[in-house]
This record gives sequence, C-alpha cells and structure tokens, in this order.
Amino acid sequence: MSTLDMRDLQSTEFPIPDELQSNVAITSLSKIYNWSRRSSMWPLLFGLACCAIEMIATAASRYDFSRFGMEVMRGSPRQSDLLIISGTVTKKMVVPIVRIYNQMPEPKYVMAMGACASGGGPFKEGYNVVSGIDQYIPVDVYVPGCPPTPQALIYGLISLQQKIDGQSLANLDDVPWYGVGPSEAVPVPVLGPDIVDPRQAELIRQQAAMAAQGMPYGRRELPAAAVPQTVVAPVEEKPAIAAESAETAEEIDPEKAARLAKREAALARKRAAKAAAEGEG
Ligand code: SF4
Repeated sequence: MSTLDMRDLQSTEFPIPDELQSNVAITSLSKIYNWSRRSSMWPLLFGLACCAIEMIATAASRYDFSRFGMEVMRGSPRQSDLLIISGTVTKKMVVPIVRIYNQMPEPKYVMAMGACASGGGPFKEGYNVVSGIDQYIPVDVYVPGCPPTPQALIYGLISLQQKIDGQSLANLDDVPWYGVGPSEAVPVPVLGPDIVDPRQAELIRQQAAMAAQGMPYGRRELPAAAVPQTVVAPVEEKPAIAAESAETAEEIDPEKAARLAKREAALARKRAAKAAAEGEG
C-alpha cells in the first residue's frame, strides 16, 4: 500500500501548530476515504486475448503493481473493484462481461486496455467483434496500444487513482453510489445470430416494421453513453407509473422512490452538463 503523506492530507484552512504538524492531520472524509480505496484496489483476474499477457507481465516481479496496492487480483467479481478489459471483445464475450460487471459491488471501475477493448482495434467492424466495450458498460480509463506495454498499463492505473482522488462523497453527479444507493444493473445483451442490446429493442422493432414495409429504415445507432444514463426513466415519469394503480402505489417504498428520484435528478444534471460541454466544444 502506498504511504500516507500527512502534508498531502492537510488541505483545510484550519491551522495546525508547528509542534503538532507530524502528529495531527485535519482533512476531509472524502480525501481519507478515497486514499484508502485507491490504495487497495483489487482487480478482477480476467483476461480476453493478447493484451492479457501484458497485464500478467505487469503483475509479475519486473513491474509489480503491488506497489499500488493492486496485487490481490481476485477470482470473483464480488470481491473486485476494478475490471480490466484486456483483449478483443467478441460478441459472444460481451454477455458474460456485462454479467460479471453487474456482479461487482460498487464502487466499481472499468479500464479498457488496448485498442480492441477501446474501439475494436485491428478487428473493428469484424463480424464477431464489438467496436469497444464502452458501448455496453461505462469505462473510466482507456489505455491505448496494441498491446499496451506494462508501463502504459501502470500509467492507466495511476490515472484511475487520480480520478478516484477527485471524487467526492458529497457529489452525487460524480459518483451516484456514494449518496443514493446502488445503480441499476446493466441489461445483459442477448446473443442470437447477432448481438442485441435490450436498450435498443424498441428501435430495432420499429426498423424491422419499416423494413417489412419496404421503407428505408436507416442505420441502427448505438447508445450515446453507457447504460446507467439510458436505462433510467426520466424523473417526471415516476409519479405517472406509480399512479397507474392504487395497489402499485402502495407497493413502492417511499424511501426507495425518493432515493431513485434524487439519483435521477443527479444523472439529469450530469447529462445536461455533458451536453453543455459538448455544445461549447
Ligand atoms: S489490442 Fe492488440 S494486443 Fe490487445 S488484444 Fe487487441 S490485437 Fe491483441
């Protein structure tokens, strides 16, 4: 585990007498909590293709990412904080990957390691490969390369630590799991002749109906962002659903409803901020 530098922690305006500088630290709960989480991150022992060999090399003695508190690679998603997607993501593998992601407890992070996991790599547009895992689950850090070197992976891990350092227990827009309970599970894609994303079921249905009538139906667009932003119903729809029947309304736990509304409001603010930022760019 990395060492705790007391000088880094003392980021408040409260003065500490010189004689107590090395014994007393005044800091925020977010800072100490983030420091402990990012210094003991447990990645899932999971590899997909050639990139996984570089990941294994990074864990071995020459590079040794135990220096980051990450040496405890877990065999179970239920004990892992970090999912490193290391390799080519085939359509067949998306299904177990999403299931594994759903089984990880929050807070959880995803790293797309290499060109394949980030965007399809040399197999982009191949009949059996998806063009990036971020079309199915949210990705926190992308590591470029084919394959990325162990140094590049370590740089990605450090970037993830920096991202965690910047999170706040009070900022629901940033990390919804801190304040308002767990996120919705990502719908597991359906594997048939092709992979079907359940979030696009309605669109696929409409386009199939148009195709059956011989009308042009355009191209199927993938969701703009990762799942939690697309599966959650808008805030104003909730009361309408609840009001549909008296029985349903009674079944809804008011505490859970308030929690969901709060979370959806936070996600709506985040979407608006993202849209504003894209508009400026
Ligand atoms: S990015 Fe390159 S090295 Fe990594 S899995 Fe794809 S083809 Fe293999």
